Amino acid sequence: MKLTLVGDTTNHPLQKIGSVAGVCWGANTDDREKNVNRAISCIESDHGRVLEWVNVELLIEDLSARCMREVGRHCVGTSYLQSSTRYVDESNFKYYTPPSCQKDGVREVYEKGMKNIAEFYGELIELGVPREDAANALPLGMDSKVVWKINLRSLVNFMNKRLCSRALLEIRQFANELRSLLMKINVEWGWIGENLFVPSCERYKFLNKSMCFCIEKKCCGRHPYIKDVTLVKQ
Ligand SMILES: Cc1cc2nc3c(=O)[nH]c(=O)nc-3n(C[C@H](O)[C@H](O)[C@H](O)COP(=O)(O)OP(=O)(O)OC[C@H]3O[C@@H](n4cnc5c(N)ncnc54)[C@H](O)[C@@H]3O)c2cc1C
Repeated sequence: MKLTLVGDTTNHPLQKIGSVAGVCWGANTDDREKNVNRAISCIESDHGRVLEWVNVELLIEDLSARCMREVGRHCVGTSYLQSSTRYVDESNFKYYTPPSCQKDGVREVYEKGMKNIAEFYGELIELGVPREDAANALPLGMDSKVVWKINLRSLVNFMNKRLCSRALLEIRQFANELRSLLMKINVEWGWIGENLFVPSCERYKFLNKSMCFCIEKKCCGRHPYIKDVTLVKQ
């Protein structure tokens, strides 16, 4: 998996949020520290609209087409462009190998299957079948390329869902890598990663450490299932 930030990823997300939110109160938006504090205050009150002014633009390479399809499911506040199997020559496609298929004895079968598909695709091309039709033979596990734009509001929702252990391993790894990449930019992204890029069971943890609960019926046990939690003292 290869992730590259491209285009207009917001450099100082909290200052950006604080300065746009400041308009609502006629505040002084030249003060960086006040902007950051105002941003955090808005986030704590779940005023989600302000997050939409922060963007991430990303080139995603070497992630499976299947995983990209799941990424593309997040369609609110996002833009998504994917490498076209109609035009791109996929004779030498690379592919994802999940851990269960990396074991001795299984890996060989998996690789043989992928090789057979590549040969089948090549044969169709040689017979004069256009790429867009031969592409029907390609596997979902084949690597693909996407440029993705997502605003912070949607990205928080993405992280809540895809850092959860219920999510597919490959997309969970993608979510974790993206989280690390963004957190390295500066302390503002670090704060966002630490507090907001968390599985859904921890989405209110930064407000109150005891507010961790799971709503997945197949709860992994990291935090208690909601039906077992008493939120209000009786
Ligand atoms: C563990 C897991 C298993 C999944 N399994 C499947 C599966 O088997 N098949 C499948 O197709 N998908 C599956 N999904 C995808 C899932 O259903 C969502 O499409 C995906 O997680 C995107 O989430 P979202 O809708 O919150 O994101 P977005 O589309 O980005 O939406 C963001 C938010 O906007 C709001 N919103 C979005 N659309 C509307 C709307 N039309 N009207 C009003 N409000 C809206 C909602 O509050 C939503 O949370 C799965 C996801 C997970 C995490």
